[in-house]
Amino acid sequence: MQTVPNHQVENLQIEDDRTGLSVECLKRAFLDNLFYVQGKFPKIATKNDYYMALAYTVRDRLLQRWINTAVIYTERASRTVSYLSAEFLMGPHLGNNLVNLGIYDQVKQAVSELGLDLEDLLEQEEEPGLGNGGLGRLAACYLDSMATLEIPSLGYGIRYEFGIFDQDIRDGWQVEITDKWLHCGNPWEIARPEWEVYVKLGGHTEAYTDEHGRYRVRWIPYQVVKGVPHDTPILGYKTNTANTLRLWTAEAPESFDFGAFNSGDYLGAVQAKMVSENLSKVLYPNDDSSQGKRLRLAQQIFFVSCSLQDMIRIVFRQNVPLEKFHEKFVVQLNDTHPAIAVAELMRLLIDEHDMGWDQAWSITQKSLAYTNHTLLPEALERWPISLFRSLLPRHLEIIYEINYHFLEEVKAKFPGDSDRLRRMSLIDESGEKYVRMAHLACVGSHSINGVAALHTKLLQQDVLRDFYQMYPEKFNNKTNGVTPRRFMVLSNPRLTNLISSKIGDSWIKHLKDLKKLEAFVDDPEFCHQWRSIKSAIKHDLVAYIQKQNGISVNPDSIFDIQAKRFHEYKRQHLNALHIITLYNRIKANPDIDITPRTFIFGGKAAPGYYMAKLIIKLLNSIADVVNNDPDVRDRLKVVFLKDYSVKFAQRVYPAADLSEQISMAGKEASGTGNMKFALNGALTIGTLDGANVEIRDEVGAENFFIFGLTAPEVYALKARGYRPLDYYHSNRELKAVIDRIASGHFSHGDTQLFKPLLDSLLHRDEYLLFADYQAYIDCQDNVSQVYRDRDRWTRMSILNVARMGKFSSDRSIRDYCQDIWNIQSVPIELGECIQAKENMRPITM
Ligand SMILES: *Cc1c(COP(=O)(O)O)cnc(C)c1O
Repeated sequence: MQTVPNHQVENLQIEDDRTGLSVECLKRAFLDNLFYVQGKFPKIATKNDYYMALAYTVRDRLLQRWINTAVIYTERASRTVSYLSAEFLMGPHLGNNLVNLGIYDQVKQAVSELGLDLEDLLEQEEEPGLGNGGLGRLAACYLDSMATLEIPSLGYGIRYEFGIFDQDIRDGWQVEITDKWLHCGNPWEIARPEWEVYVKLGGHTEAYTDEHGRYRVRWIPYQVVKGVPHDTPILGYKTNTANTLRLWTAEAPESFDFGAFNSGDYLGAVQAKMVSENLSKVLYPNDDSSQGKRLRLAQQIFFVSCSLQDMIRIVFRQNVPLEKFHEKFVVQLNDTHPAIAVAELMRLLIDEHDMGWDQAWSITQKSLAYTNHTLLPEALERWPISLFRSLLPRHLEIIYEINYHFLEEVKAKFPGDSDRLRRMSLIDESGEKYVRMAHLACVGSHSINGVAALHTKLLQQDVLRDFYQMYPEKFNNKTNGVTPRRFMVLSNPRLTNLISSKIGDSWIKHLKDLKKLEAFVDDPEFCHQWRSIKSAIKHDLVAYIQKQNGISVNPDSIFDIQAKRFHEYKRQHLNALHIITLYNRIKANPDIDITPRTFIFGGKAAPGYYMAKLIIKLLNSIADVVNNDPDVRDRLKVVFLKDYSVKFAQRVYPAADLSEQISMAGKEASGTGNMKFALNGALTIGTLDGANVEIRDEVGAENFFIFGLTAPEVYALKARGYRPLDYYHSNRELKAVIDRIASGHFSHGDTQLFKPLLDSLLHRDEYLLFADYQAYIDCQDNVSQVYRDRDRWTRMSILNVARMGKFSSDRSIRDYCQDIWNIQSVPIELGECIQAKENMRPITM
C-alpha cells in the first residue's frame, strides 16, 4: 500500500513545488489530489479516482498559464476572436494537455513509479461528446490552433448535459444510449456563476416613446432563463497561452415564478425550473439535417444571447466604448446555428444599450463573419415564422426591418428583378413562411466562407449564387485543417517519434516541415521502419477488434477503413457493394487470387434517419455472412466497430492502409477525416469532392486513388435524366450484387429487410452509386494490385505524409487571422505572472 505524504513536516517545501514538473513533484501532487480532492487513498481508490487525481494534478499545472493569459488579455484589452459554435467535439482532455504541456513522459514515469499505467488512466476519461461530427471537431481543432498560435480567443457554446448518444449494436442494428458524460464529475471545468446572464423567451413586444421622444420597443417575455458559464482551459502546444472554452448551462432564475411558489404551487414552480433546464439538456443528434424544433431554436438563442452579453460585459470591463465592440471582438459563426446573432446583437445594441439603427447595423456587420458548412439543401436551416414569432417576437421584428433595408439594396443593384428579390429575401414566402438563417447570416456578416476550394466555388455558383452576385467581396475560402497535436503526436506516438528522429520536431508546429521526409523515401532502412510501425499499429487494432467484436483479423490484409457519420451522400453502401462484389467473385471461383482485405466501419446514424440505420444493419449482416463463410478462407473480413467518437478516431486513423472518402461529388463540403487518415500514412480512395481535391493536388495524383464522376458531371447526368435501372441491367457484376442482397442471402432468407434500400437505389439512387459503381470497382482492383508491391505502397504512404503540410488547422487559423479577423498573436510571458501565493496578501475590496 502507498503511504500518504505527511504535510505537517514538509509544508514549506510543498508550497514551493506545488505545481512542479519533476517526477517527484508529480507523484506527490498526484497522491495529494487523490487524498484531498477525491477523498481516497491507494488501497481503496478506483481507477476513476486515479484518473481524477491525475486530471487535477495536470489542471493545477495549467492554471498558472490560464490565469496569466486572462490577466494579460484584460490588461491589454486584446482584440479577441469569439468562435460561436453549437458543437465542440473536444475529445478527452488529459492526454492532449499532457502533450501540450510537454510533460507526457514525466507523468508516465510518475504514475508508473506508483504502480499505475498511464494508458490505462487515459482510457478512463469519459470524453465530452458535445458534437455530432466534422463541424464540432473542426471547432475543437481550431481552439487548439488558436491557443498554439497565441491568438486571443474564446470558444462559446452549450454545456449539454447529454452529448452525442453512445452507440451500441444489437442484432446488427444501432441502439442509442444516453451519454452521461458528467456522471463522474468533470475535472476540467470551472463554473463562473458570477458571470451569469439572463435570456428572454416568448411573450410579446410593446412600442413606446422614450424621454427623448424616440421610438423604442420593449419586450415583455413569457419566460426568462439564466445562463451560467462553465470555463475549460484550452492550452496551446508548448506555449504559455491558455485560452477559454466557455459553455453555458441553462438554469431557472431564483426568483422565477415566485408567485406560483407563494401561492402554494410548489410543483408548478419546480416544473418551470425543469423547463428552463431543458435548454441545455441534450445535443440534437442530427448531422446535416434540420428539423425545425422549437427547443433547438431556443438553444440557439440561449447560447448566442449569453455569449454576446458576455462579450458586452467584457467590453465594458475593459473600458472599451460599446461603439468599438467590433474592434475588440470578431465573432465567427460556425454554420447557421448561431446566425440568430445578427438579430440578437442588433437587439442588444438598440433596445438594451440605446444605440441608433445605423450605427448598430454597422457594428453588427463589422463584427460578424459566417462559415457555411454544407451543400445539402435539407441541412439549410429555416424556421417557420409562427414558431419564430412565438419564441422570438422582437427578433422577428428586427429581421423584418433588416430585410426591408436589404431588399431596398437589392432593388438598387438589380432594378426590376422581382424574382431575385423573392429568392434572396430573408423570408421564404413560397408556401408556409420561413426565416432563412443562411440568408440572415450572409446579410449580417462582413465575410462568408466555405471550407474547401470546391465547396466555396459551388457556394458561389449555386447555393449562394445571388449573394455572391450581390456581395462578391464578402466571399472567401478557408480550407479546413486538423490539429497534428491530437491526431499525430498524441494518437500516433510511434510514427511521431520516427518522423522526429529524422527531421526534428518542428513539424508539430509547422506542418509544412514534413516535406523534409521526402529526402528519405528512397532510404530502405527508413521505409522498413515506416512499414514496421504501421504493422505494429495494425496489430494493436487486431487485438482491439478481437476483444470488441470477437473477430480474428489478418494484420497483413489491407486495412480499408470508412469511419464517419452514416449518411447516404457519404455512400457507405457503395463500399458495401464492393465487398459483395469481391464476395461474389470468391463464391464463383473459390481459388481466385484476391489481395486479403479487412473492411472496417465506424460511425453513428441520426436516430431518426431510417435509411442510414438500415445501411448499418446491412454492413453487420454482410459481416455475419462473409466472416463465417468457409469459401472466403479469411481473405475478407468485415468489422463494424461501435461507438465512433474522438477516442475511437484516435485509435483507428493510425491503423489505416486505405481511407474511404467516397461521397458523391458536390456533397461533402470539405471532410476532415480524409486529412486525419492521410496524415497518419493511409492512402486515399476518393471522389473529387470537398478537400479531397486539394489533398490530391498536394500529394500528387500518382499517390491518390481517384475515381468517379466529378461535380459538373454529376449535375450534367442529373440534368440529362439519370436512370439507375439502366446500370443495373447492363452491368453483370452490379446486378449480381443487388440480386444477392435481394435474395435474402444476408438476411436469413428475408427478402423484405433490405428492400427499402434496394428500391431506393434501383428507382432513384439520388447519390449515384450505380453510376459510380464500375469506376469504384476498377479503382479498388487497382488498389489491391498496388498493395502487393509493398515498396511502392510504403513510398506512396511516406509521400502522402510528407505532403500533408497544408492541412494543419494552424494554416487554416492563420488564413482566418489574415483575411477575416485582422488579428495578431499576443505572446504570454510567464515572467511576471500572477502567483498563487499572491492570495496570501491582505485582500482589498
Ligand atoms: C474527424 C472526425 C469526423 C469527421 O469525419 P469526416 O470523415 O470528415 O466526415 C467525425 N467524427 C469524429 C469523431 C472525427 O474525429
